[in-house]
Amino acid sequence: MSKYDPYKKQVLETCLQLMEAGFFGTRHGSAGNVSVQVDGEDTIVITPSGIKYTDLSPADLCVLNFNGARLEGPHEPSVEAPMHLACYQHRPDVSSVIHTHQPHASAFGLINHSIPALFDEVAVAIGHVVEVVPYGLSGSNDLLENVVAKLDNRCHCYILQNHGALCMGPSLEKTLLFAELLEKTAMVYQMALATGKEITTLPEGLPLGLFQITTMRQDMEIARKAALMPAAAV
Ligand SMILES: [Zn+2]
Repeated sequence: MSKYDPYKKQVLETCLQLMEAGFFGTRHGSAGNVSVQVDGEDTIVITPSGIKYTDLSPADLCVLNFNGARLEGPHEPSVEAPMHLACYQHRPDVSSVIHTHQPHASAFGLINHSIPALFDEVAVAIGHVVEVVPYGLSGSNDLLENVVAKLDNRCHCYILQNHGALCMGPSLEKTLLFAELLEKTAMVYQMALATGKEITTLPEGLPLGLFQITTMRQDMEIARKAALMPAAAV
């Protein structure tokens, strides 16, 4: 038994839900990766590299510290582990990161087209825009640096050019919801664009105004997490 077991179980359950929904692009591959931060620690639980989700058991998941050192797990972590760690380090509001190859969102990475907040619930949940992160090879430092350069907008979802999507949030449950909302928005936006007619948008300024509710929640989450860290308890 390990204190990380509940987190491993939760990550694997999230992976299986994403796989069933087709968010990894296939149901029989190992694409995509999922991680969660352990409460009160600079530690994450992340999926291993190159193993089908249906072949995974919780004990196969990796536990890494923020320096990338493996604390538990028999396999190499996902090649995108440095990208996940960079998200946690640059976004202290984030406790979960999900990287998918979800089809509708990925399509916008092929036309290098950001997705505006077209629905008010999306502006609150995801942010005022879903930006495209310039291409970098999977697992490369280029990709990591390109992601980090976008994180300051505090949004919860990004599209990786010619690759997939990257979602993050305060919990696995919320981040899974953000990934679903992103896919729904991308699909509806594509359907609307396909008509060739003008796309209507939310009133000017409303998406950013609504997203301020989210950034206030993020600030509260940052304070909650900081209070859990050992140094804060002294
Ligand atoms: Zn990928």
